[in-house]
Amino acid sequence: MDFSVAEKTQELVRRAHDFVTAQAQPLERRMGDWRSLEPVLREVRGKAKALGLWTPQRSLPLSEFALVSEELGRSPLGHYCVNCQAPDVGNMELLELAGTKEQKKKWLDPLAAGEIRSCFSMTEPERPGSNPTWMETRAVLEGGRWTLDGHKWFSTAADGARFAVVMAVTDPDAPPHLRASMIIVPTDTPGYTLVRNIPVMGEAGSGWASHGEIRYQKCVVPEENLLGGRGAGFALAQERLGPGRIHHCMRWIGISERALELICSYSVSREMSPNKPLALKQTVQEWIAESRAAIDAARLLVLHAAWKMEREGQKAARVEISTIKFFVAGVLQRVLDRAIQAHGALGLTDETPLAFWYRHERAGRIYDGPDEVHKLVVARQILRKHGVELK
Ligand SMILES: Cc1cc2nc3c(=O)[nH]c(=O)nc-3n(C[C@H](O)[C@H](O)[C@H](O)COP(=O)(O)OP(=O)(O)OC[C@H]3O[C@@H](n4cnc5c(N)ncnc54)[C@H](O)[C@@H]3O)c2cc1C
Repeated sequence: MDFSVAEKTQELVRRAHDFVTAQAQPLERRMGDWRSLEPVLREVRGKAKALGLWTPQRSLPLSEFALVSEELGRSPLGHYCVNCQAPDVGNMELLELAGTKEQKKKWLDPLAAGEIRSCFSMTEPERPGSNPTWMETRAVLEGGRWTLDGHKWFSTAADGARFAVVMAVTDPDAPPHLRASMIIVPTDTPGYTLVRNIPVMGEAGSGWASHGEIRYQKCVVPEENLLGGRGAGFALAQERLGPGRIHHCMRWIGISERALELICSYSVSREMSPNKPLALKQTVQEWIAESRAAIDAARLLVLHAAWKMEREGQKAARVEISTIKFFVAGVLQRVLDRAIQAHGALGLTDETPLAFWYRHERAGRIYDGPDEVHKLVVARQILRKHGVELK
């Protein structure tokens, strides 16, 4: 077994590390004021382009992008600075995979250039997101046009998005997994209403961090806005979510690494009595050792899942992907919690990125499938080997 990383990839990872440290981390304290930060970020994004760090997910194999994504994760702004932030990154992958030539030109090119934003509109307030075969939003095809009616929420980054990729039932009488399709809806279409940005953990957010509630009311788009085949919505969603979970997990590992760095640097500098730094306490040393082991284990699991997905495809790596989704989200929560505890009251302020991450990344145990659903996938496969078939 060879754990070495190609020299070329190592060099790219080093550059991503330096870029995040020099360009993204110094801006973190300004994240509360998106309006004043946006023009600065535009300049930083320009620098990323000039340095050849732009949209790295488009040119790298998944397992190599995973390593870069970890480095970008060391700042809440890292992914945005190089244009591989969710949900745009997933929509780029979808368009690349299933878009027509015209759709790519109209939506993928400006998205990849960082000229526009997008959102992914699947979850509904009135139906469980964990059971996406049960959905109310409808799209009816008539006279070469789709008419959409429905209610969505948690469409991340809807505020400022130029278009939404909407999951809608197009064939209600088909088998459950063939009922829905993906349709591109420009956000200036009459009948599309961004009702509000939902306050999450007390923050309504805007731009990159908002979560929109949207109404689609007699929203009409041309037939050619269908993305992929009719009835292929679920299959495409799976294609989108597989790499997406690798992206999230490596980002969480980057966050965990930064949190561990902060535990170490703070506990070394914080004296509890003259010449007696916090780092001398055995409890803190246990936090450091436990965090180190958990992060390293998480990374190996994620890289293995990415490796398997590259070689054998998404379906074959389904259980590995479910394993990392709940495992790494748990590691992140524990490491962040220890880091906040180590900082005392300072940990609860926005003087470090810890409190931001603690608020924002709690969602990782819910979106892209809650922990419980992923644990079912893993346990069922194990139980099947013991002769138990669970429906
Ligand atoms: C920050 C954030 C960003 C998001 N971004 C997007 C986005 O961009 N686009 C989008 O479409 N959606 C998005 N979502 C929505 C997300 O995908 C859903 O919240 C998720 O699929 C869960 O659906 P739900 O909230 O309806 O919970 P439900 O499906 O109602 O589930 C509620 C709870 O029930 C439990 N549960 C569910 N199923 C099982 C089971 N089989 N066994 C045991 N327990 C179970 C779990 O604990 C779960 O948390 C986002 C959510 C968050 C929090």
